[in-house]
Amino acid sequence: MEIIKTIGEIRAAVRKARLEGGAIGLVPTMGYLHQGHLSLISRARHANELVVVSIFVNPLQFGPKEDYASYPRDLERDSALAAEAGADIIFAPSVSEMYPDKALTQVEVALLGDWLCGRSRPGHFRGVTTVVSKLFNIVQPDKAYFGEKDAQQLAIIKQMVADLNFPVEIVPVPIVREEDGLAMSSRNVYLSAQERADALVLNRALQQTNRLFRAGERSSSKLRQEILQMIEAVPGASVDYVEICDRSTLQPIESIDTGALVAVAVRFGKTRLIDNITLAEV
Ligand code: AMP
Repeated sequence: MEIIKTIGEIRAAVRKARLEGGAIGLVPTMGYLHQGHLSLISRARHANELVVVSIFVNPLQFGPKEDYASYPRDLERDSALAAEAGADIIFAPSVSEMYPDKALTQVEVALLGDWLCGRSRPGHFRGVTTVVSKLFNIVQPDKAYFGEKDAQQLAIIKQMVADLNFPVEIVPVPIVREEDGLAMSSRNVYLSAQERADALVLNRALQQTNRLFRAGERSSSKLRQEILQMIEAVPGASVDYVEICDRSTLQPIESIDTGALVAVAVRFGKTRLIDNITLAEV
């Protein structure tokens, strides 16, 4: 596996693979890889001749008071894990390689990024869509892999790809959880033992919502209330949002038929965690 740090070199490596007729898969990440990332990489491995994993902590998607400086980074560990999961190339550019001072352009999907995570993280999704557009233009993948863990990000990227005619297929990958149900996240390392135990309420509440849905409950507000009660019963939890909405349009849903997204964001101490579930009959 190769580690490439410049745009010129990654373009050359990808061009070579394309000339040989191989499909190219891209897995964009911010590194500090865990099993969630690795499941994206192995999905990409099975469907492409060349698998590129980008590792870039994107300053544009962090607010001024957020954890850009302290975000965990470990390229050596990530390289070993990515290679094992089947990556051919890690693309790990510097900030100045990705954002030379003269850059004046950003990419923004209207509306979809204004609520849910966008409400407490203004500008976050503009940072995401800008960096993902750049990665798509640099790597020109046939397929790109994104986790359902970041359901709003996935909806926004799908919209961007459709609106701007990016010639790439977006492949969603299910959430990978720890054995006790906590959704894997690079930010889980911030949690104290108590906060980590408290955070289990997220999956518990989402599972309970699904049980109520399967038992026939269709009222969004009743389901929402149930989740809020469960989370607010944990003293260390502070709710940012609990919303039930359409998975593609992210529009709130009042009466659910099938396929609604239940998305939550909750703070445990200084750490803000997100999680979600798609309500399903079976
Ligand atoms: P990040 O490094 O947090 O920006 O995540 C990179 C990619 O991995 C995104 O598409 C995430 O949705 C995905 N991802 C992160 N955590 C998980 C998880 N627990 N299960 C599945 N995908 C995940």
